[in-house]
Amino acid sequence: MIADIHPFDRILIANRGEIALRIQRACRQLGLACVQAYSSADAGAPYVRCADEAICIGPAPSRQSYLSSAAILLAARASGARAVHPGYGFLSENADFAARLEAAGMTLIGPTSDAMRVLGDKISAKRAMISSGVPCVPGYEGALAADDAALAIASDLGYPLIIKAAGGGGGRGMRVVHNPEELLGAIRITREEAERAFANANVYMERYLQRPRHVEIQVLCDHHGNGVWLGARDCSTQRRHQKVIEEAPAPNVDPALIARVGKLCVDACRQIGYRGLGTFEFLHEDGELFFIEMNTRLQVEHTITEMTSGLDLVELQIRVAQGERLPFTQEEVEVSGHSIECRINAEDPTTFVPSPGTVEFFHAPGGPGIRVDSHVSSGYAIPSHYDSMIAKVITWGKTREQAIVRMEGALREMKIEGVKSNIPLHRDVLQSSEFRRGGMSIHFLERMLDDRRRSQGANKQA
Ligand code: ADP
Repeated sequence: MIADIHPFDRILIANRGEIALRIQRACRQLGLACVQAYSSADAGAPYVRCADEAICIGPAPSRQSYLSSAAILLAARASGARAVHPGYGFLSENADFAARLEAAGMTLIGPTSDAMRVLGDKISAKRAMISSGVPCVPGYEGALAADDAALAIASDLGYPLIIKAAGGGGGRGMRVVHNPEELLGAIRITREEAERAFANANVYMERYLQRPRHVEIQVLCDHHGNGVWLGARDCSTQRRHQKVIEEAPAPNVDPALIARVGKLCVDACRQIGYRGLGTFEFLHEDGELFFIEMNTRLQVEHTITEMTSGLDLVELQIRVAQGERLPFTQEEVEVSGHSIECRINAEDPTTFVPSPGTVEFFHAPGGPGIRVDSHVSSGYAIPSHYDSMIAKVITWGKTREQAIVRMEGALREMKIEGVKSNIPLHRDVLQSSEFRRGGMSIHFLERMLDDRRRSQGANKQA
């Protein structure tokens, strides 16, 4: 047996909302007991009642509950859970938390703290990818200061450039620079912001690609050196660098390119000693992929890969954490049809201001090829302390067109009353000719919103 595999039959779920419910479903599939950690703001949530056991880890603010390693470790100990599933967000990519679990002889359902540390820092992640031959955005993989050296590096790379925080995440800690006059100020401000937001002032730079698409490759690795890639997703429909709609596979991207780079991703995992689920994020431009970062956890959009591969990724993630070998080879992975996910947020569809409160009425759509992952039902009170995503609507079709038509029907059927939601925005996107064509750049949604604001302004003036 490999030394750091510890058997477990009970998992502490250190997350909330739809992903907590998703993990509970996987535990049930595997016959594992699940202990749901919850903050006092989530005490009444239906998924807390569904768990085999539930344990309060603190008050509403995340820092004192879902982000508190000490509270979660205590909850794991008290409940007898030998493993922790961190979901996404919160502590899921926190290497210090992973190290604390390791030191306590517990299993984090995810990679080791060492792998997380290498890949969690965007500078060391890029260096690791370069050494494994994974194609990266051309840049400078070192910490920058606001000095002449930075000016010289920038002029070698060529403008426009993007200054990025090594510890950045969630679409924050990035600044585009168009000319040398802007460079040093941008480095200074990004360093200050990064220090404040991520407690890591290191920033680096890379070429700013002008009209890329966001394409990512899902991988899954076990403890025994086996790994597979499970196809690509396109997450170019973004607002403020945050994903709004995802689809799989990435339309109009050469499958041979995905296969070649997918293999390199798995090789990189082997070299780093990575295990579990992971996502390699790329920008795609002019027929090429350029690595930007790796997410060392389960992602929101894992669902669309499940729909196109027929696999239960959360179940597999837990099985490899138990030390099981991957139950299939790369040759046995089959990707079929097309899947789309719309992230349904409780927010104003035009101002994007969150809209917490009580969901007076909730009706989820159904029918062939429709899946809804949500923790919400009529009467559910959305707390104001956490992010505003309340459901994921996922469709599958034999073709992209069928997946879109099914999504339109599903969103028409879905009812959310009592709070605002971004369903109208999704419906507008689905109807746009650019989305219909597929292969939009990451600027597509922002441009659509700008056009809408301009035309509304013109209407007001008229
Ligand atoms: P985060 O960890 O905050 O999500 P990423 O590095 O994944 O940051 O980048 C988020 C988004 O920012 C990308 O999906 C893309 O829209 C944009 N972006 C990042 N790097 C570049 C780049 N070099 N050129 C153009 N856009 C970029």
